[in-house]
Amino acid sequence: MARAMNPATHPSSALPLLRARRVVVKVGSSLLVDAEQGVPNSAWLETLAEDLAALRVRGQEVLLVSSGAIALGRRHLGLSSARLKLEEKQAAAAVGQIRLAHAWKDALELHRLSVAQILLTFGDTEERRRYLNARNTLSTLLRLGAIPVINENDTVATAEIRYGDNDRLAARVAQMMSADCLVLLSDVDGLYSADPRRDPAARFIPDVHSISLDIERMAGGTTSAVGSGGMATKIAAAKIAIPAGCHMAVALGREQHV
Ligand code: GLU
Repeated sequence: MARAMNPATHPSSALPLLRARRVVVKVGSSLLVDAEQGVPNSAWLETLAEDLAALRVRGQEVLLVSSGAIALGRRHLGLSSARLKLEEKQAAAAVGQIRLAHAWKDALELHRLSVAQILLTFGDTEERRRYLNARNTLSTLLRLGAIPVINENDTVATAEIRYGDNDRLAARVAQMMSADCLVLLSDVDGLYSADPRRDPAARFIPDVHSISLDIERMAGGTTSAVGSGGMATKIAAAKIAIPAGCHMAVALGREQHV
C-alpha cells in the first residue's frame, strides 16, 4: 500500500513538499546502485517507487533525475580502476543507462506509472531553442501522466560542456519546469558546518535561507565514494533552485520509504 504523508505528523520543514504541485526528486548513484554487486538496489527502489506513487495519488506531479548509469555500466564492462577516463565513463554510461531505465521501469510500473527516459546535455538546458523544446517534451509527458526519468546524456557530453553532476542538472530541471520543490536524495542527511565524516565537531544546519559565503565554505570539497556530487554541488544546485522560487531539501535517502 502506498503511504501518504500526513501534515500533522511531519515537521514544518516538510510543508513545502506537502504543498508542492510539482516535485523534482534527484536520486544519487550511491543510493541506487549496490556498491558491492554493481546492480540496482531493487528492494530500495521499490519502496521509493511506492512513495512516489503516493505523491501522485495526492495529485502531485513528479519528475525524477536519476544518476547511476556509469556506476551500473562500469561493473558490467569490467572497468575496475578508481578513476575512469572520459571515454570509459561514456562507454559505461551507454551500457548502464539501459539497466538504469529498466530498473525504474520495473519499479514504477508496479504502480501502473508510465516511465519516460529523457537524456539531456548542458546545451539542452542552456540554449534557448533547445531549452524550450526540452521543456515542451517534459510538460507533455507530465500532462500525459508519465514520470520523466532524466539523466545527463553522458555518452555525448564532453568534459568541457557537461554538468558532470546531477545535482545541478536537477536544479536546472526544477527551474525549467517551475517545480515548487527539489529533493536531493543522498548519502548525507543535510548540510553540516564541516564534513561530519572527518570532523566530529561538525554541526548540523537544519535550514538555510540564503546561500552566503559562509555556507559555501562549509560545503567545500565533500565527496561521496560512488557518486560525483558531494555537498559543493548541492550548494551550487541551491543557487539555481532557490532564486527560481523552488524549495530545496537535501535528504538522507538510504532508509526504505524515504
Ligand atoms: N550522469 C551520471 C550517471 O548516471 C551521474 C552523475 C552524478 O553522479 O551526479 O552515472
